[in-house]
Amino acid sequence: MGFLAVISILLLNYQYTERERDYSQQDLSKQAEIVLKTTAIAMRDELYSLKIDELRDLANKIDENDEITLFIVYDKNGKMLVDSRTSGWIFTQTVDVLGKDLVSLSVNETYYEWLPSQLIAGQSVRIGSKVIGAIAIGFSTKPLERKINDITSQGFILATIFIFIGAMFTFGMARRLTAPLSDLANVASEMEKGNLNVRANPSKTHDEIGQLSIAFNQMADAIQEREKALRDQADGLEKTVNERTSEIKEQARILEEMAITDPLTHAYNRRQFYKIAEIEMKLARKNNHPLSVIVIDADHFKLINDTYGHHAGDLALIKLAETCQNAIRDTDVFARYGGEEFVVLMPNTDALAANQIAERIRKRVEEESVESEEKIVRFTISLGVSTFQTSKQPTFDSLLTQADKALYNSKKSGRNRVTHWEEETP
Ligand code: GH3
Ligand code: MG
Ligand code: MG
Repeated sequence: MGFLAVISILLLNYQYTERERDYSQQDLSKQAEIVLKTTAIAMRDELYSLKIDELRDLANKIDENDEITLFIVYDKNGKMLVDSRTSGWIFTQTVDVLGKDLVSLSVNETYYEWLPSQLIAGQSVRIGSKVIGAIAIGFSTKPLERKINDITSQGFILATIFIFIGAMFTFGMARRLTAPLSDLANVASEMEKGNLNVRANPSKTHDEIGQLSIAFNQMADAIQEREKALRDQADGLEKTVNERTSEIKEQARILEEMAITDPLTHAYNRRQFYKIAEIEMKLARKNNHPLSVIVIDADHFKLINDTYGHHAGDLALIKLAETCQNAIRDTDVFARYGGEEFVVLMPNTDALAANQIAERIRKRVEEESVESEEKIVRFTISLGVSTFQTSKQPTFDSLLTQADKALYNSKKSGRNRVTHWEEETP
């Protein structure tokens, strides 16, 4: 494109210069014709009478003009009479080809010959229709050449300016096209990286690129909105899932608790008690540590139920569990064995300590009471204690049986008391 523009401008410049050259040559030709005609009229008489000196004076005068390069006068035969080129204007009398040509020219016919730096123009000189001689005048074409050169260089300057402006325009157009496009490309790759807040900078001109930027931004808005909606939806979903998860966890916890505890007293149930007891038994055996167990049975509980009602009985059992829990240590394990019977497992506890704890429990229960239907309910417990001996107890059940036997003794000897199992216990 740019190359074609340059060629076109140079061609136009050449055409313009050539036309100017034509016009200038026509001007110079016209000028030459006028000079020839006036000169011919001015020297007619002198030529006719062949007054050479006067002709020479005239030639001298004409030749003074800087733009006249030569002046030749011929007689009617084409013989040179006066020649400004010969020093001292020597009358040569030589027949000249040009002179012959000029005298044979018809009326009003002008001869022109363009030479490198001059124009030779000539015509015949007549009186009426009779040829009496001819004149040839040389005109310098230097001013004309200068003018043409000026025009050419002006043309070149103009062409250069045009080319420069054209180049600037092309560059500007390219920038106007490429800058917004590279802006768009940058924004698109930012968005691809996940930054949805970026937007294209729409050009102020409402051209295709501007429209494209606006459309791109609309698309970006839509994507961002959709992304936000999806995120909100995902957040909502996550919240629901979290809620459901904690509900399920809570239910699982309740189920687990139900599986291992007794619903009335919240003490461990018998199954959980056995589970823990087996582990503690193994540990005691391994480490050769003492392990004691207390079996607790509420005294005459049937009577409590019968006297105060089953609800009062329940309250009494709850109070009993609470009292036992508070009387034992954190490392001890308390469980409801069944009905109005409870057990305490005491790791790392010898017979003496176990008896003391059992006694403490017994005493506290004796001091406790529950209120039901405005009636104060008091009750006592009987306890049997047994302590694990590495060599003698092969199983936990046997330990428990011994404690049970001790409890039986407590019942038998009057209730509300503690009995420790001894070898000699029947
Ligand atoms: P002893 O001193 O010989 O142990 O007499 P006892 O009445 O306590 O013994 P028995 O085995 O004859 O009766 C136990 C009673 O405990 C019978 C039963 O109704 C009551 N009982 C067992 N479990 C519960 C319970 O969960 N709630 C209530 N209210 N009573 C219970
Ligand atoms: Mg019982
Ligand atoms: Mg009982």
